[in-house]
Amino acid sequence: MEEEEGPEFGKPDFVLLDQVTMEDFMDNLKLRFEKGRIYTYIGEVVVSVNPYRKLPLYGPEMIAKYQGRELYERPPHLYAVADAAHKAMKRRAKDTCIVISGESGAGKTEASKHIMQYIAAITNPSQRAEVERVKDVLLKSTCVLEAFGNAHTNRNHNSSRFGKYMDINFDFKGDPTGGHIHSYLLEKSRVLKQHSGERNFHSFYQLLRGAKDGQLQDLNLQRDPALYTFTQQGAGLSSSDSDEANYQAVIQAMKVIGFSSDEMDCVHRILAAILHLGNIQFVETESGLEVAEERLVDHVARLTATPRDLVMRSLLSRTVASGGRELIEKDHSAPEARYARDACAKAIYERLFGWIVGRINEVMEARGRDPRRDGKDTVIGVLDIYGFEIFPDNSFEQFCINYCNEKLQQLFIQLILKQEQEEYQREGITWQNIEYFNNSAIVELVERPHRGVLAILDEACASVGTVTDRLFLQSLDTHHRHHPHYTSRQLCPTDKTMEFGRDFRIKHYAGDVTSAVEGILGKGLDGEIFEVPSICSGTYSTDLTLRSMWPDGQQDITEVTKRPLTAGTLFKNSMVALVENLAAKEPYYVRCIKPNEEKSPGHLDEERCRHQVAYLGLLENVRVRRAGFASRQPYPRFLLRYKMTCEYTWPNHLLGSDKSAVGALLEQHGLKDDVAFGHNKLFIRSPRTLVTLEQSRARLI
Ligand code: ADP
Ligand code: MG
Repeated sequence: MEEEEGPEFGKPDFVLLDQVTMEDFMDNLKLRFEKGRIYTYIGEVVVSVNPYRKLPLYGPEMIAKYQGRELYERPPHLYAVADAAHKAMKRRAKDTCIVISGESGAGKTEASKHIMQYIAAITNPSQRAEVERVKDVLLKSTCVLEAFGNAHTNRNHNSSRFGKYMDINFDFKGDPTGGHIHSYLLEKSRVLKQHSGERNFHSFYQLLRGAKDGQLQDLNLQRDPALYTFTQQGAGLSSSDSDEANYQAVIQAMKVIGFSSDEMDCVHRILAAILHLGNIQFVETESGLEVAEERLVDHVARLTATPRDLVMRSLLSRTVASGGRELIEKDHSAPEARYARDACAKAIYERLFGWIVGRINEVMEARGRDPRRDGKDTVIGVLDIYGFEIFPDNSFEQFCINYCNEKLQQLFIQLILKQEQEEYQREGITWQNIEYFNNSAIVELVERPHRGVLAILDEACASVGTVTDRLFLQSLDTHHRHHPHYTSRQLCPTDKTMEFGRDFRIKHYAGDVTSAVEGILGKGLDGEIFEVPSICSGTYSTDLTLRSMWPDGQQDITEVTKRPLTAGTLFKNSMVALVENLAAKEPYYVRCIKPNEEKSPGHLDEERCRHQVAYLGLLENVRVRRAGFASRQPYPRFLLRYKMTCEYTWPNHLLGSDKSAVGALLEQHGLKDDVAFGHNKLFIRSPRTLVTLEQSRARLI
């Protein structure tokens, strides 16, 4: 390690602690945090604490210090991990991924941006235009996605309300040639409603505050967010300056990516239409239900280029299939009309977001594809996905998010802890078993076929109408009466923190999460208790961009009776696919910690941090790492890299086996005590040994 990492800064790697106890861990974390050392390793895992202040740790000079270096040559940093992932990919043609986890506000998204900036900075030394273009799009995509997918929340003023996994494709030179973004579970209920102290998605406020007067007039909008039901709540929050500036930045970024001005226009019209929709109220009159302010319907119709009478009809009535293929129109009650309006606003926003992601992907794919190298690209995946969420009142979204975190934790356990132990056993290296918390029971509780919570929810959704939220809860109680991670008031009548017939509780790895079942069937069905109003189907629009947001076209009404997959099952499927994808790559981890609730720089709330250290499994991670080895390599690969450093092995050895050749090489370097010889691989205990080897290699080339 460089002198910048003297002993006064604590241990740069938790593996070097004198004892692996929570106290020692916390002391080191705290000491480093106070000295502005927000990054610390556990082997190759980076533990990061959000400093909530600007630190001089980033930028071109810093990047230059890390470029091409080994992980342990410089103080711990995200750049080192980004470099390691890139190097592994380039040297060994391995697909790698960087998994960033931690709770909301812990610094995941900032970390992912630093990583992307690093990768962009160290690639394409020859300045090839097409690679520069891909990098531009990669970097600019963040700004656009944040505008439409992030919001000011109580925990984070720029909180990502969707999960993001981005694959970056590289050619054989290690330069980015394209990419693909997957987004997960946009919190679309935020379009309608926000907790107190929170805002809707940034995009709405940016439009209202950033657009020119003329444009607002065209959209029939007024500047004040307090005038619109959907934005009223957060109107007073955050400075209007930044919304204004960000509006320009987003437009600029969209231009760079390649959105046409027609497309951007359409995006703004959709945002405006949603705001108008939100203001529509219904009144019961003698002649039936009516819209209070008909001009709002005019605006929506005009902005979405949809026939006015269709907009009106889809708010006030719905078409249902009665028996065979016969269709009848059924009038809405006032609550049904409000429901239709809201379902529509949510669905449109979700489509808009999905379309933006899709357009960015189109651009990155088109640039990246090189027919001569089809399928030979390597990939670095970057995952920035919401962490555990435990609120006083939790709902379907938290349920999904927490399930996602259990899955990722399981993957972490499997990859880092279990895989490591198993490999030592397989290789015949002496190994002391480490106890770790195995969360598979919780994952099973949620996703098990037929009787997992999601399966029961699916079943309940299939017979909605006869099955109520309450019956769903009863069914959970029956199936999981004895499950160690499940409980409810019914099962635990003395626990007054839950309510009878309303709450169930899952004992997560990160803590207990109590969810109310109210409305859960509706959310499970994704708001499609009855068919989504037809203006939500852009096929009725004459605007081509808007229509392209509904590529599936107009659904035949009789097909609606065939149940679509529920939101829970869709989410589960996407999680299973994500985990499979990650498991096939060489993983690097960034574990983010939120130091305090107040977003205050310099303060580290020990209680809160200890909790995070515990549920991120960091102590177990250190124990495994200490029992283990810093590096392991198959003998042939080791020789390939270092054989030139030893007379017995260069250019080829005559020692019978690669294993004995490696032995001779290490003997000559005096490094034999720091390694263990597995059946097929060499295990190196300390990073220092690798540095020595790399240095002798460097002297020769
Ligand atoms: P998450 O994605 O985990 O919810 P963010 O990455 O959005 O959290 O970080 C929340 C806020 O914390 C940021 O808006 C920023 O103000 C601050 N922050 C996070 N990481 C850093 C950092 N490395 N340096 C300075 N401030 C940071
Ligand atoms: Mg985030």
